[in-house]
Amino acid sequence: MMYKYNYSPGPTYVRENVRAARSLETTNPDIDRDFVKYYKDTCDIINKIIDSNNNTYMLSGEAILGLEAACASLTESGDRILVIDNGLYGNGFKDFVSMYGGLPVMFKQDYKRGVSCEELEEFLKRDSDFKYATIVHCDTPTGVLNDIHKICPLLKKYGIMSVVDSVSGMVGEFLSVNKSGADIVIGGSQKAISAQPGITIVSVSDMASESMRKREKPIIGFYANLRIWENYLSEQYFPYTLPSSDIISLRVALENIVSEGIDNVLDRHKKIATCVRSSIEKSGLRLFLESDFSNTVTAIELPDNIRATDITRFIYEKHGVIIATSLAEYKDKIIRIGHMGENATFDRTSYILSLLDEAFAHYGVHLDETLFDGFVKNYKK
Ligand SMILES: *Cc1c(COP(=O)(O)O)cnc(C)c1O
Repeated sequence: MMYKYNYSPGPTYVRENVRAARSLETTNPDIDRDFVKYYKDTCDIINKIIDSNNNTYMLSGEAILGLEAACASLTESGDRILVIDNGLYGNGFKDFVSMYGGLPVMFKQDYKRGVSCEELEEFLKRDSDFKYATIVHCDTPTGVLNDIHKICPLLKKYGIMSVVDSVSGMVGEFLSVNKSGADIVIGGSQKAISAQPGITIVSVSDMASESMRKREKPIIGFYANLRIWENYLSEQYFPYTLPSSDIISLRVALENIVSEGIDNVLDRHKKIATCVRSSIEKSGLRLFLESDFSNTVTAIELPDNIRATDITRFIYEKHGVIIATSLAEYKDKIIRIGHMGENATFDRTSYILSLLDEAFAHYGVHLDETLFDGFVKNYKK
């Protein structure tokens, strides 16, 4: 492989003990009875970390599978679904909804800040005839954070279930599935959890399961059908051969989180993110967002005369280090610093900031104070 370090907002840095766990002997999860227990115990660890009493599953597939599975399993032909859109992932839910025959109704908000509960409630007062709503916890292409612990209860007040994409929020931002009352919460192994990509986590409420059981027509497809997981424990049998190595390495990543303590992990993210943001402000560069910044990724809006892809290419070619631009219309305007999971440390963050300083100097972008200096000063305060 060409690269040395990866600072993209997922996949992120994977600790050595997690990488090593992948090299263990491969079992047959369908025959090895211990594996069912190991799987269930791993789901219980996840539930502790995300404060969930719901049924939590690990599906074999990248987190997009979790998003699709939620929509595939809940949507019936003609269902009206509220798609809360203040970012690219938020917007993207409409495609999954339509693919499975639903009618997406968009609630569009400013992409530069979190969803306003007041405006959402005004909207719901006029129209609340939705089976469920979709909302993104942290919309990674801009890093905007939505207060799902207020939004999901508000939706419930109007009888609307919620599907929450917490792929880049989980473990980097406070998340209590129980307190939020969210019906399906989706996470991914490769973001703040800091394992390799390959597993999506899906936590399903009783209300959501009940809704799937009461469908008029069966769920379309197999792989994205959440009902195939319902009886794995009682039947001691999985719907398909699970990628045991992916699950074993995810388990070690989760144990890393448990041994640090989830509250400490969240504090670490908060401190790093706060220092990164203030270093950007002091440098004279602009943060893309106006408010509601997530602690897992920071988006810098570049001056007009400089292209984000030039900066990322410079850093990659000179140092073999990966840093991300953004997606779609933001691709050349935004640089994103992924400080999630194992990347949310003083050493790793100060290093990537020093490389950004070098790239900005190379392209003649004046900084009032280097990102590195600003970050270090703030961190030591
Ligand atoms: C990473 C991510 C996903 C998974 O998508 P990929 O881009 O395929 O990794 C889904 N939702 C959000 C908010 C994410 O950050």
